[in-house]
Amino acid sequence: MIFVVTGPSGSGKSTILRCVFKDLRGVDFSVSHTTRPPRESERNGREYHFVDEAEFKRMIGRQAFVEWAVVHGHYYGTSKAEIVLKSRGSDVILDIDVQGARQVRERFPQAVSVFILPPKFAELKRRLRDRGEDDPATIALRLKTARREIREYKSFDYVIINDRLDRAVLELEAVILGARCRTSVRRRGIKAVLDSFL
Ligand code: ADP
Ligand code: 5GP
Repeated sequence: MIFVVTGPSGSGKSTILRCVFKDLRGVDFSVSHTTRPPRESERNGREYHFVDEAEFKRMIGRQAFVEWAVVHGHYYGTSKAEIVLKSRGSDVILDIDVQGARQVRERFPQAVSVFILPPKFAELKRRLRDRGEDDPATIALRLKTARREIREYKSFDYVIINDRLDRAVLELEAVILGARCRTSVRRRGIKAVLDSFL
């Protein structure tokens, strides 16, 4: 299954996902390509595949992406190869923006989409500042984009308000576990049980 997690920058997507990956088995992270420069804490191939604009555009030309978008002035995209690799035997989570989420939903209508909201604007601002990874101009741009992005929550299957981290993590895990229990997804497991009754 494909899970799409979206929300304004600083809403807590990476933090929540880190906890989910520790807690749940059978779920993997889709590492996007980006032209954004790496932050100090980031490693190539772990948070992102960091590439230059020429390489990103070559990949667009080769139709290598499932979706891509320009976010805060940089290119970001999910490669087809990444989806194929990560969805082998496990569920895959995409941490992508609203434009990308729209493209994924069109391509994979069965994808489960989750929107992460911060508890309030002032808290989003505080979290972006305290994260200490972006300069003031970048933070201002991210906050401006956030005002536009939050209006998109309606197109998502689920909304999580990331006030207390532990609750937000539990809620995302509940979404994933709930989706795995859907009758259509469980079919193979159910068959084994029913066969044992024959
Ligand atoms: P995103 O991936 O959505 O851009 P991050 O996961 O980097 O956001 O979170 C932004 C900042 O907010 C980080 O410094 C993180 O530690 C902090 N943070 C995330 N969730 C919470 C929370 N529930 N309460 C307080 N701080 C949080
Ligand atoms: P950041 O620079 O803070 O890591 O990410 C900025 C924004 O880009 C976030 O909203 C994040 O979800 C989004 N993003 C990350 N990877 C992708 C991707 O592959 N495609 C799209 N469309 N957005 C992405």
